[in-house]
Amino acid sequence: MVDLHRQYLRLKPEIDQAMQNVIDSCSFINGPQVRSFSSHLSEYLDVPHVIPCGNGTDALQIALMSLNLMPGDEVIVPAFTYVAAAEVIALLGLIPVWVDVEEDTFNINPYQIEAAISPKTKALIVVHLFGQSCPMEIIRQIAEQNHLYVIEDNAQSLGAECIYTDGQRRKTGTIGHIGTTSFFPSKPLACYGDGGAVITSDDRLAERIRMIANHGQIKKYHHKIIGCNSRLDTLQAAVLEAKLPHINEFAEARQRVAQAYDEALGNDPRWEIPQRTTYSTHVFHQYTLRIKDGKRDALQSYLKEHDIPSMVYYPLPLHRQEAFYGLARNGSVLPHAENLTQAVLSLPIHSEMTEEEIGYIIETIKHFES
Ligand SMILES: *Cc1c(COP(=O)(O)O)cnc(C)c1O
Repeated sequence: MVDLHRQYLRLKPEIDQAMQNVIDSCSFINGPQVRSFSSHLSEYLDVPHVIPCGNGTDALQIALMSLNLMPGDEVIVPAFTYVAAAEVIALLGLIPVWVDVEEDTFNINPYQIEAAISPKTKALIVVHLFGQSCPMEIIRQIAEQNHLYVIEDNAQSLGAECIYTDGQRRKTGTIGHIGTTSFFPSKPLACYGDGGAVITSDDRLAERIRMIANHGQIKKYHHKIIGCNSRLDTLQAAVLEAKLPHINEFAEARQRVAQAYDEALGNDPRWEIPQRTTYSTHVFHQYTLRIKDGKRDALQSYLKEHDIPSMVYYPLPLHRQEAFYGLARNGSVLPHAENLTQAVLSLPIHSEMTEEEIGYIIETIKHFES
């Protein structure tokens, strides 16, 4: 699905040097690269605070911890996404409230958010899934009217832009009260292990987030609140610092692959290609088809026979995950979350794909006969 090795070989001199510098200095924890990477990322995103942490799931947990919610408070979350956001909601004794997604964009349906709000609802975690922004202008409006915090899980869409009706553009992850991201090796900006970050424009929240990620302390051995230990390793920060200047070029390479898929596979009655919206750019973390007539599994087996990897993100909606039974509430009916798990298929897409590979995948898919 991704080719990490080819990308490494292309960037080898920069990455090897960056890692060697860390090893030579032996500043493995909180070395200068952690701060310089964070400040470069905050410049790129045009946001005052980027607080690095151990991974994208920690980032979500720390973000929620900073909001001072009480056990039993409700947090709205899409039912069709990766488990992390819902997991940390439940872990903190909060109640996930499932809301359906839009069938064509895979992102949370903003009009169903309002209906899901109860007097206990305090926050909303939206997920910019597969590389495309949720409609943040509407979502912010609903959140403001209902006094809800907005957290953006931006693990899959770092670098995407939300486009407002007046033409103004904002990077995803910088629009809500808090944004989070992951630097897991397959993500749009990726390190060579685990890594994550919390993003905010709010100085007061930034201070709390920094404290929480560092055992609840501002001053060493003086613990003001209950926190955790979640750090970005210096080695990972060095890799990320070397790769950050290439983030737009990585996205452009994936957009070219998506364009080729769109042109070859669009207007085919057997599937729907990914929907592009007027309110977002698309950085194509995934290229996800919706296969019609229950043929998804047959197409996946056929691709496998022809040595083409493909993945089902995600095979089970969150409201059907055993872990959440009795701990969550349905905020809306969930037909799309339900149906998408049966229909979606993600094709290989990454910054290092060759014309031959793209051509082979396209020709093979076109010849699928079920
Ligand atoms: C990858 C991912 C995460 C979790 O990131 P980790 O670094 O693996 O903890 C959270 N949310 C979404 C949407 C993701 O894709």
